[in-house]
This record gives sequence, structure tokens and C-alpha cells, in this order.
Amino acid sequence: MKPEEYSNIKRGYALIDMDAIRNNVDVMYQSLASGTRMILVIKTDGYGHGSVPIAHMYDQDDRIWGYAVACPEEAYDLRDAGIHKPILILGYTFDYAYEDIVRLDIRPAVFTEEMLDGLAEASRRVGKKAKIHIKVDTGMSRIGIRPDDTGLAFVKKAMSCEGLEIEGIFTHFARADETDKKYAYRQLELFKNFTARIRDELGFDIELKHCSNSAGIMEMPEANMDIVRAGITLYGLWPSDEVDHSRMAFKPVMSLISHIVYVKEVEAGTQISYGGTYIAPDKRLIATVPVGYGDGYPRMLSGKGEVLVKGKRAPICGRVCMDQFMIDVTDIPEVKTGDKVTLIGFDADEHISMEEIGDISGRFNYELACDVGKRIPRVYVSGGDVEDIILDRRSIK
Ligand SMILES: *Cc1c(COP(=O)(O)O)cnc(C)c1O
Repeated sequence: MKPEEYSNIKRGYALIDMDAIRNNVDVMYQSLASGTRMILVIKTDGYGHGSVPIAHMYDQDDRIWGYAVACPEEAYDLRDAGIHKPILILGYTFDYAYEDIVRLDIRPAVFTEEMLDGLAEASRRVGKKAKIHIKVDTGMSRIGIRPDDTGLAFVKKAMSCEGLEIEGIFTHFARADETDKKYAYRQLELFKNFTARIRDELGFDIELKHCSNSAGIMEMPEANMDIVRAGITLYGLWPSDEVDHSRMAFKPVMSLISHIVYVKEVEAGTQISYGGTYIAPDKRLIATVPVGYGDGYPRMLSGKGEVLVKGKRAPICGRVCMDQFMIDVTDIPEVKTGDKVTLIGFDADEHISMEEIGDISGRFNYELACDVGKRIPRVYVSGGDVEDIILDRRSIK
């Protein structure tokens, strides 16, 4: 069935275009050096798109090494859903989770001696090797060991820990999304020199080295290595304004759709929404859209943003409320209750991108996708048909 045939999602839904995800993965993979595989970064529930359906789609695909998340609970969601591939936790893992992650083959990013000791202990208790990826700080200054003598001593200690298997080593670019790649290349060089020292001085060539994020995949082919970590571009969004948008033909994955619930004519002088910040200059046709900042639609779009109705732009009148807002549809013919409203996405020849919403609201495209609220059902569409509808982790199809 088509999304428009389901009435339980009409208030507002995020349409997730699985064909677009497949396109984005293919486009990235084609650009990689042969032998380089991918990690799909699906933290924050897949940047708001839903991690489980994406992981399911790729769990049998050899191009994909595995998945990356931010914390153990996000990894458990994937294992609970039957996902088999390796999962890497990108952030710090607190010790309460060590036994569970070892049991479930979830790899932590490791960078302190306490973590080494705790994971070795967990490995003993579980009776299974703990696979780890060492995190190196080459310039992000967030987490990670330093690529110097102290870092080398850390790797040496990790190698000697009974029960630990150093499967990977990685770093993260802070500025690969800028036109000027000087800082990113400096990070790459520090990382390469450090892994070479581990090989030459400790006699250990770590199997999986990785450093590229989306911007690196797009513009730093030298940084491919064994795996790359694809985040924002998986979702068809851009790492920044500065990366070359013509370089790879990504398709945006998420659209945000609602439907008009009320249409009325107002007289000149009528105030609309909280604070009366909009006053009708003349007779206007005003429609109400039942979505608001409680759904993650930015309140900063008040009086500034636009939506699409019948392929045309309609401006937001007055303040965006928690669950509703009003638009001016005077110039759009024959608008009625039940008509579709596109908050993000394509309608005929018009398009409102996550980046446009970000620019107008002073927010960040990554952040907007993550913040689409949990009361908005995610509607997974493949080849035009609805595969599943998920609301708060349950299927409501
Ligand atoms: C979030 C994250 C990524 C993905 O970044 P994008 O810019 O979305 O590609 C990769 N690596 C690490 C360590 C991250 O935290």
C-alpha cells in the first residue's frame, strides 16, 4: 500500500525512503578503494531515521563491515532485533556494560587503562575474548589516546592484557568537511605515523584501521584504509556547505509529511497564534497544520519558514506552537482539510531540504534529523510501497 492509504499516520509522519538509502550506500561504495568496507553509523536511532530497519537491510551485505552506535543501549536494540554484524560503540562505555557487550560481541572504543583492566576482567567472567577498537585522538580533542610515546605504551599494555583482542584502531576528523583540508591531512598523517610505529616498534599490524567520516569519504580518498564510517551521507544529507555537492549523487532519505486539519478565511487585522506576532494585512485564507515543536519542528521557524502544499510554498504565520502551526494558503487554489503538507521533502517541482530548515532556524541539519520526535511514526517505503510503520519501536502498520 501507499503511505496516503494509512489514516493512522496523517497527523504527521517521517517518510523513510529505503531506495534512497540504497542509492547513497552504492554511491559511496563505488568511490572507495577496492578492499575498503563500510561501517554504517546509525547512532541516535540512525540520525532519527530508525537504526533497526537500516541494519536489517544490510546485515547480509559484504560491503558493510558493521554498524556504529553511541552507547551500549543502542547496540542492544540492534542485537534484540536480530542483527548479527559487528557493532562498534563510538563513545565512552561505562563499566556496568562490559560483561554484556563482551557477551553480545559489541566492540567498545577503548582509550583508558581502567577500560583495559575492566574489559579484561569482564572477558574472564564471561569466558570470551573482548574485541576492542583503540581510539586515537589526532586533533578532535574529545576522546582517545595520544599518538605519541604514551599512546604507544598504552597499546603495548593492551596487547599484553589477557582476554583482549585488538581488532581495530581509529581516529576521527574534526575538520574534514571544510574546503581547506590542511587540518584533516595533518590528522591523517599523525594517525598513519602512529599505526606505523605500532607495527614497527611493537611488531603488531592492527587488522582494521579507520578514520574517514562522510566528509572524508567524499573528499579524502587517501583516508579510506580498511573501513570508512558513513554517517550523514547515508541519510542523503550534507556534512557541510563547503563540501562539493556535485561530487556524489546522494538522495535525501527523510521527508516530513502532515495534513491540513482546518481552513478558514480571516479578516484584515486578525492576529494569529501566541503573541499575535502575525496580523493579517487583508482578507487571508489560513490553514492549520497539526505538528509543532513537540515533534521536533523548530519553533525558530515562527514567521520565517515555509511548507509545501500542492507543490507551492506556503509561509508560516505567527508562532509555531508545541503541536500545531498556521500557514497562509491564500495564493494556493482550492486548499481544503485533509490536503497533504510537506514540511521537509519534495512536492512536484518544489523542495524543502533539511539544510534549508537548518539555515532558517539557525540549527544544524544533523541535529534536526535526530530531533524528529518520537511521536512521529517512521514510514519505511521501498519501491513506492510501505514496508513498515514504526512508532516508538513498535510496528503500527
Ligand atoms: C558520528 C561519527 C561519525 C559519522 O560522522 P558523519 O559526519 O555523520 O559521517 C563517524 N565517526 C565518529 C567517531 C562519529 O562520532
